[in-house]
Amino acid sequence: MTIQEKLSRLPSVDECLKSPFGRKWLQSFARKTVLRAVREIIDSKRKEILHGASPDVTLEALSHNIDASIKKLSAYKLRPLINATGIVIHTNLGRSILSERAIDHIIETARSYSNLEYDISSGRRGKRYSNIKDIIRELTGAEDAVVVNNNAAAVLLCLETFAKGKEVIVSRGELVEIGGSFRIPEVMKASGAILREVGTTNKTHLPDYENALCGDTALLLKVHQSNYKVIGFTEEVPIEKLVKLGKEYKIPVIADLGSGCMIDLEKYGVYGEPTVQHVVSTGADIVTFSGDKLLGGPQAGLIIGKEKLIAKIQKNPMLRAMRIDKMTLASLEATFMQYLDEEKAMKEIPTLKMLTQSEGEIKRRAKRIASSLRKEISGHAEIGVIADESQAGGGSLPEISFPTFAVSLKPLKISVNELEKRLRLGEPHVIARIKDDTLIMDARTIQDEEAKILAGCVKNAFVL
Ligand SMILES: *Cc1c(COP(=O)(O)O)cnc(C)c1O
Repeated sequence: MTIQEKLSRLPSVDECLKSPFGRKWLQSFARKTVLRAVREIIDSKRKEILHGASPDVTLEALSHNIDASIKKLSAYKLRPLINATGIVIHTNLGRSILSERAIDHIIETARSYSNLEYDISSGRRGKRYSNIKDIIRELTGAEDAVVVNNNAAAVLLCLETFAKGKEVIVSRGELVEIGGSFRIPEVMKASGAILREVGTTNKTHLPDYENALCGDTALLLKVHQSNYKVIGFTEEVPIEKLVKLGKEYKIPVIADLGSGCMIDLEKYGVYGEPTVQHVVSTGADIVTFSGDKLLGGPQAGLIIGKEKLIAKIQKNPMLRAMRIDKMTLASLEATFMQYLDEEKAMKEIPTLKMLTQSEGEIKRRAKRIASSLRKEISGHAEIGVIADESQAGGGSLPEISFPTFAVSLKPLKISVNELEKRLRLGEPHVIARIKDDTLIMDARTIQDEEAKILAGCVKNAFVL
């Protein structure tokens, strides 16, 4: 058959659309998507023919390719995946997953009109933040609260409100970078505040702050070191002393806590993270923290503290540009409500649950996954359960190791890199890591529902 004859056998776009396959696609998918897929597949077959190949170009054969292409084109780009890295607050994987209560509250708020900025008792316009203020005050002991998009915005807004064109004193040991795009000196610059560094990388003393005070000082800022730790010959000024100094000179003290832990995790064997309540109780004027780190809620930036100062922030027009939407507000409110019962919060807020679950529980999950894997892929890989360490992630608790258990896979017929890639590209995607030529799937961050389907995902990766 000549190339011309082969080309003439290719069905037209119209023929494809009018076929039973085409009618079915048009019923379930957007016309634009179907057209694009049909054109793409016909085009690729044409190219194959021009290169001398003889592909099967019956409608039946093309329909498989078109089907796959339509599915790919209509799939969401933002998609769920299985986090087998063991990093609980994984910024690249969406940080905290939300509690069922938070999800329910988002859904009901999204489905109907709400009193987002409406005061039901007076029938007048209300404030966006008043619905969440009371619960935050009750839980943290702060006088007032306002919420913005994320903690970076919270810090920026505070600096802009109180220190534009004035000096902010910060210890050199706290000029941190968090996740690349948030660097204290740069945020300071963007806000128009002037950074006044004091002390050294490893040691800063109270007189360092005191000596830097001048007529231009607007704020004393304390930043949680988050993702790094200075160890050895070190000293930092505790927030209590900074607050005392601030009171003496009438300079407000802001503590950027980063994580925003609401429960004293020492009871659960996790040391070294100050609670929001503690920092508020020291008398710090403003405390800021993230909604989606240790709090376990949605992306948000909490600004809590003295009523007078919060009122000033509420008047800053930049607040409008950083305001949070109703769905975030709904999920934040639900998450905070869960903290009214600490025991329940530990069980129902996924971030807290994953961080504090017992080694026994993690081990059982890892064993369950390993045994279902043995049924599915024995002969393809050496399967084991190993002790390992997970991380909190999200710049939280960097120096704390969380003993964990992981399923290890040593593939026999393909490379470990190939296995990692196939799992990552699979459906659903599984994100695992490689350690010493072995694929490691940490059971800490694998949810129970996911554990049930994981063996299937791994099997698909091997039979590709
Ligand atoms: C994480 C963090 C931030 C940034 O918070 P986002 O919610 O990611 O914007 C700022 N400061 C500290 C100390 C942090 O740990």
